Amino acid sequence: MGKRSRQKPEKHCVGCQAIVAEMFRVKYQEQSDWILVCKACQLAIKEQDGYQYGGTWKQAKRN
Ligand SMILES: [Zn+2]
Repeated sequence: MGKRSRQKPEKHCVGCQAIVAEMFRVKYQEQSDWILVCKACQLAIKEQDGYQYGGTWKQAKRN
């Protein structure tokens, strides 16, 4: 969307707003879209009905 941003923006956890380098894509019953959360929030969401795990997101590393 934003053509000005060259860098991959940092993502923050939808649950606790923490910015972390590794996030988990999850979905659950009350949440129809995929959301990215940190490990702690993922563990909490795991207990929700309809929990689905959609993979891990890692901040891109430059070599
Ligand atoms: Zn979190």
